[in-house]
Amino acid sequence: MPGTIKKLAVLTSGGDSPGMNAAIRSVVRSCAYHGVECFGVYRGYEGLIEGDFERLDARSVKGIINKGGTMLKSARSQGFRTKEGRQQAYQNLLDAKIDGLVVIGGDGSFTGALIFNQEFGFPVMGIPGTIDNDIFGTTHTLGFDTALNTVVDAIDKIRDTASSHNRLFFVEVMGRDVGHIALNAGIAGGAEEILIPEEDLGLDRLVESLNKSRKSGKSSSIVIVAEGDKIGKNIFQLKDYVDENMEGYDVRVSVLGHMQRGGSPSCFDRVLASRMGVKAVESLLNGETNYMVGLLNSKMELTPLEQAIKGKTKINLELLRVSDIMST
Ligand code: ATP
Repeated sequence: MPGTIKKLAVLTSGGDSPGMNAAIRSVVRSCAYHGVECFGVYRGYEGLIEGDFERLDARSVKGIINKGGTMLKSARSQGFRTKEGRQQAYQNLLDAKIDGLVVIGGDGSFTGALIFNQEFGFPVMGIPGTIDNDIFGTTHTLGFDTALNTVVDAIDKIRDTASSHNRLFFVEVMGRDVGHIALNAGIAGGAEEILIPEEDLGLDRLVESLNKSRKSGKSSSIVIVAEGDKIGKNIFQLKDYVDENMEGYDVRVSVLGHMQRGGSPSCFDRVLASRMGVKAVESLLNGETNYMVGLLNSKMELTPLEQAIKGKTKINLELLRVSDIMST
């Protein structure tokens, strides 16, 4: 009910992503603006179970909008997957008289929040924080834009060495189930081919396409591979296959790994995080619960947590076509 919330808590859970700090700052300052006490919970649900939280005021979050990672730390909590763990977390919240929770994380974190609400009727609100952009109900998750810029920067650097040595580089980027990072960064970085989980190019077509590029005068190439691409081979097996079936290229592999999660958030992610924090707090204060805040048609919108968890994000087919045309 509107007006009943006097104390809120915020936590970050699952994999960290750039922009989480900016979202924490926004939640804390929105609380301060509305005269609501705010508590920061350390190490996600683990800290909730252990009662590891402290009061944060507007000044506690100074100087973090530009920092990657999360000042509250993140964790994967086995304890929260158990009824006893969640019961303990609920008791700790009751003892501290906290009456609402903002969860910044991915779909696993939202699943935990939804179960928690169903068991104890505790008001929860999600903010999507993951670089993979794989959450239904928002066109952008926190950290996606920053990760794209990081990947494009890395591709630009790899291109320098690729073109100096007639090299073919396979560059692996994050995206186990979805190819949003690969597709967008691949286009922006001028990749020759982009291999994503949503599409099965096939090894023969890959070699055929690379051969075509060589014949058309390209002396170096970059292929972006999402971790979970459909060909099903790991990036080193891909390299071996192309080595065996193509001549003329010195084939190399670069796995970008965790550097994609780090770094100072982009302007876009900072603004998005600030908007999401305000919307999350104001929605809880208005009596809304079990929603995720998202960006849809340039506006802050609420999507039921259940849909955000179950819904699938789709790859933009127009981008696939653009990528094909650009590699002509
Ligand atoms: P990422 O996108 O980075 O993987 P995530 O939020 O999906 O982020 P998970 O590790 O899947 O990350 O989930 C984070 C935490 O949420 C888990 O460690 C666990 O504490 C809680 N959680 C996930 N699923 C459940 C569940 N079914 N029941 C209770 N808690 C859960």
